[in-house]
Formats: sequence, structure tokens, C-alpha cells
Amino acid sequence: MNRVMCLSFLLLCFGVIFMYLISKLQKCFIKYNAMPCYLVVLIATKYKLWYNWKSNPKNNYEVKYMQFPLVLGVSARHAHICREHMDILFGAGSELHVKKTIGQPGQFASEEQITLVTPKGEMKLRIIGPLRPETQIELALTDARKLGLNAPIRHSGKLAGSAGGKLIGPCGEVEISEGIIVAARHIHLYPETAAKYGLKDGDIVDIVTQGERSLTLHNVLVRAGEAHADEVHIDTDEANACNLDSDMMVDVVFNK
Ligand SMILES: [Zn+2]
Repeated sequence: MNRVMCLSFLLLCFGVIFMYLISKLQKCFIKYNAMPCYLVVLIATKYKLWYNWKSNPKNNYEVKYMQFPLVLGVSARHAHICREHMDILFGAGSELHVKKTIGQPGQFASEEQITLVTPKGEMKLRIIGPLRPETQIELALTDARKLGLNAPIRHSGKLAGSAGGKLIGPCGEVEISEGIIVAARHIHLYPETAAKYGLKDGDIVDIVTQGERSLTLHNVLVRAGEAHADEVHIDTDEANACNLDSDMMVDVVFNK
């Protein structure tokens, strides 16, 4: 009996409150004419717009930019030579002699130089050791223009259909039909550095430079693995465009 009385009392209370709110709402409608209706429509419209925007998968992602500094290495024009061409240019069984070690593990600028000759001119090139399976000449676009070469921008080792020319050494000369490229900008990373920032070999990042000629360089390939040491590689044209030099710091920027 008590429970029935309690429930009845509660229902009565709710009824009174409900009637009170209805009467207030009616007064509001009368006082502000159609204003409450307008507000309801306005809120509903805004909610619908927000809901449509949020439901679109294109808007439903989180962009998170990552950034870390990396030391710059500017690559001047140079040559990588294969065993066969080394024998022709410098004599059978000849070896490269270390002039200076460079940033990447085991690589060095050698004492040996060759001359690249085209119908429009010639250019001396230092050989970067050790010897490689394929001869590869890396020029800046300015160098290629001076020599009248249509050298494509390529990643190292992608030589099919690239430019050719004549190489002259102290002991002989060799005509190459392809192998002359403009090296595409890239970064080298230790496996630990790549893992730390969640990057892997083959990823593409941006490079942001500082200073008076600060620039953002897009389409920068990540090369990561045991054979690589942390370094950004751009050529002399790119470095001059940004007023940068080797050993300066730049920022690697990418989104995760
Ligand atoms: Zn490199």
C-alpha cells in the first residue's frame, strides 16, 4: 500500500513539474512570438551540418606532423665506377685510393678522377669508392645543361634510358650509352633512427630548410638500413637554391 502511495505521489510530482514547464514554454512562445521555434530550427540545422561533416570519412582523420633535425650532405658531381671500366680507365687490376672518407659507411672520395666528355664540353669528376656493380655518373642539372645532356632525375641505380657520354681516364676511354643521371634528393637513416620515427625504406618525406632562402623540398626518398648513416643528400643546385652547405642542419617533416 505504501509503495502504491509513493508511486502515485511521484507521478503527481512529475505531472505538476511537466505542466509547469509546458505553461512556461507557452508563455515563452507568447512573449517572444516565434523566437523559440527559430532557435530550435537553428540548433537543428547546425547539428545536421556538423553531423554531415563528421560522418564524411574525408574529414574523420587525425593529421599528425612529425619533425626531426638531420645533418646535410651536399653532393657535388661525381662518378661511381664498375670494375670493368676501372680496368679500362686506370689499367688492369688498378684500385681506388682513399682521399677522404664521406658520410656513408665504407664510402670515400678517391684520389682518382676521370673526365666526362660530350659534344658540348667536358667536366672533371671525382670517383666515389668503393667500386660498384654499375658505372653511374651523378651531375647537377646545371652541369648536365653545360654538357648538353638530357640527364633524368633518378634514384641511385635506376639507370635504364639515362644519358650517355664518353669517360676518359689516364689509361683509356670508354663510351657509356647510359648511366648519367641527376640524383634525386634523399635521406639516409640508421635502422634505429628510422624505427624511432616510424619511417621505413622507401617512404617519402619533406625537407624544410632554415635561413634567408628557406625552402621546403618535397618528394624526398627515405633510404634506411644497415648500409646507411643519418644524413640528408641534396645536390649543389638544390643547396645553392637554399643557400646551404654540408654539415648544416635541416628538418625532416612528414605526417603519420
Ligand atoms: Zn646519398
